[in-house]
Amino acid sequence: MAAAKAKTKSRRKIQCDKCGGLCCRYFALPIDDPEDWDDYDDMRWFLCHEDIEVFVEEGDWYINIKNKCKYLSDKNYKCDMYDKRPKICRGYKMTDCDYTGKEYDYELHFTNDHQMEEYMKIKFGDKVLDKLKKKKRRRKKRKKR
Ligand code: SF4
Ligand code: SF4
Repeated sequence: MAAAKAKTKSRRKIQCDKCGGLCCRYFALPIDDPEDWDDYDDMRWFLCHEDIEVFVEEGDWYINIKNKCKYLSDKNYKCDMYDKRPKICRGYKMTDCDYTGKEYDYELHFTNDHQMEEYMKIKFGDKVLDKLKKKKRRRKKRKKR
């Protein structure tokens, strides 16, 4: 058992040394399934920000924040707080990790707001953003009164 553990540890070391810490360079969180125009437009807003992606996997929607963990060393790409690393890091399986695993099988994958706009056009029609202009006009009218 101890030998097997040592073997896994050294395999982790060799593999992770080669990889540069891919799994410590982002985190993805589940988000509510979008139901209407406003929900999709909120996601378009997420995607106006740098280093943000939205994807759908097995029917569930996620936001992906491509932001490196501050404890990933820039010198050797190792975890600077390995012994105190959070449980989510401890539970990450190197046998199916970003370095060794298969390509992600996304049903949908948006890397910028223009892609979301195109998707919204398919869902809601070509004039998908006219709604915003109308809202603006309504606001102006209200101000005039
Ligand atoms: S992605 Fe895999 S190989 Fe790379 S650091 Fe994470 S566990 Fe190690
Ligand atoms: S705490 Fe360590 S293992 Fe966890 S994401 Fe940060 S660098 Fe990676």
